[in-house]
Amino acid sequence: MNITIEPLGPNARAPLAEKFVFGKTFTNRMFMQHWSEERGWHDARIVPYQSLCFDPATAVLHYGQEIFEGTKAYRRPDGHINLFRPWENTARFNRSAERMAMQKVDPEAHLEAIITLVRLEHEWVPYGEGESLYIRPTMIATEVSLGLHASRSYLHYIITGPAGPYFSAGLKPISVFVTDRYVRAVRGGTGAAKTGGNYAASLLESERVKPLGYQQVLWLDAIERKYVEEVGAMNIAFVYGGKHIVTPELSGSILEGVTRDSVLKLAPDLGYTASEARLALDDVLRDIESGEITEVFGTGTAAVIAPVDKLGYCGKDYVVRFAPGPVAAHLYKALTDIQYGRAPDPYGWTYKIEVPGVS
Ligand SMILES: *Cc1c(COP(=O)(O)O)cnc(C)c1O
Repeated sequence: MNITIEPLGPNARAPLAEKFVFGKTFTNRMFMQHWSEERGWHDARIVPYQSLCFDPATAVLHYGQEIFEGTKAYRRPDGHINLFRPWENTARFNRSAERMAMQKVDPEAHLEAIITLVRLEHEWVPYGEGESLYIRPTMIATEVSLGLHASRSYLHYIITGPAGPYFSAGLKPISVFVTDRYVRAVRGGTGAAKTGGNYAASLLESERVKPLGYQQVLWLDAIERKYVEEVGAMNIAFVYGGKHIVTPELSGSILEGVTRDSVLKLAPDLGYTASEARLALDDVLRDIESGEITEVFGTGTAAVIAPVDKLGYCGKDYVVRFAPGPVAAHLYKALTDIQYGRAPDPYGWTYKIEVPGVS
């Protein structure tokens, strides 16, 4: 791909000079390219970070035809930078595009765009413990039309911004509310795609339970409201007897997390067994009460591993034996050691970006 790199504008800021806030602080540059029926993907550019300007009738603003991704760049001890399994995020971006009747990107070109952007913005990859540069690829429908059909034009862009550690003081547990009022996604729906509407649909319930002391909502399957699916924007896992890790099997309504997959692959090498299963909520709650389930944790790029201390359901709190527990701590350390390049990567999960001037 031929990426034109435009010079920085007068508003460019010195990297990491000020205190940054995840999701609100962005780097000086962004990537963008356009798709049209006549030209396909074209005009790939890295430009100064800028506002986008849209006609009020632009399709994405009405019918939500949009997708996104979330991945990170990590500062290695040698000063270079690691991406973690960026190929999986790219493949998922294209699966999301397919589900939302959008145009796929060339995976090589998408990855090249991320690498070129991170290399240009390398000074924005922070050095602190647990810090990283968050990367947010996005695609939106840009046709100006209220007609309900797949857009005939798209904008693909990538923004990046520094992120602090999800947990500033060790692995702090989250409390989870199990809802049977609403559902997040249905089989055959869009739950397996990273598309805005899924998250919009989750807000009402997550806002309602926040003042009750729960930071996240656990979603059940939409049909029987009986099986455990996901927690917030994370997958969920349960530890039996400190040894066996179980996560809900992919049902078509669960987002296929890269962290989830990494835990499944890593667990056996750390001395655990791991499996995917259809998990009934009743069984899970019973096993938390009896202590057979020793730990519960969420998995996702943002937190890596988020220990859960209790599940609230039908007016009762089910308190998890260990939060954080030894398995969560072990997995967190093993995964982040690979991500940051502190440990060897026998799985081929990392992509090293060489930073100019670092030997
Ligand atoms: C992104 C996401 C996850 C976690 O995926 P990772 O690839 O591990 O970051 C899980 N569930 C939902 C709903 C998500 O949006």
